[in-house]
Amino acid sequence: MKRLGIMGGTFDPIHYGHLVAAEMARAEFSLNKVLFIPSGTPPHKERSDITAAELRFEMVERAIQDNPAFEISALELRRIGPSYTVDTLRVLRRTWPEHELYFITGSDALRQIFSWREVEEILMMTKFIGAARPGFDARDFLLQVQKERPETQERIHYIEVPALAISSTDIRARVKRGQPIRYLLPEPVRLYIQQHGLYTAQVMSDKS
Ligand code: NAP
Repeated sequence: MKRLGIMGGTFDPIHYGHLVAAEMARAEFSLNKVLFIPSGTPPHKERSDITAAELRFEMVERAIQDNPAFEISALELRRIGPSYTVDTLRVLRRTWPEHELYFITGSDALRQIFSWREVEEILMMTKFIGAARPGFDARDFLLQVQKERPETQERIHYIEVPALAISSTDIRARVKRGQPIRYLLPEPVRLYIQQHGLYTAQVMSDKS
């Protein structure tokens, strides 16, 4: 059976940490393809905090253009209302029937999985790869999995990604302070941020 990686995240903005995580997961788990799915309206976030989905989508498009194993999907963008992972996985199971699914996301996001809608169904549809920043301690979470869903233990994996020392939050703060972000993300993404005036104090206050 073929293997499809699903890279789920807000990507506000996408950076080298995400790209390295996706590439490491691809190699380590022999994934045939990694599909980036920028969240539409993430279920757990205030809409006003986040850059418009279309702009985040365009930044991801620019970031992955030189990797033939990476693709982007507008699946969550087209959805109206909160974007639940369970709905995304249901569609992907239909559109990629001959593939085993591996959902790749940040280890901090994964830690919250038991609060996600229809988690049992989710855990049956996909395996998980949590991309961890150096020093992340997964023990508490794995103990919780062992206690609450022992049958799913083998479906959750972690990879340590040193490049995840880079964070979207830090990049946004740097832009706001007028500090450089070059080399933290692909150059076409940096230029896109500059051209659209994203994350500047003005844009941020306009949204609040
Ligand atoms: P988040 O809370 O913004 O991010 C949590 C942490 O994970 C941050 O440190 C973030 O770093 C990192 N991260 C996020 N996506 C990553 C990725 N693909 N690879 C590596 N690190 C990543 O999380 P989010 O982006 O909103 O959500 C992550 C995924 O979980 C999305 O696909 C979302 O739809 C899904 N989710 C589903 C539900 C639900 O169905 N109820 C609830 C919550 C989340 P950066 O800030 O640097 O990205």
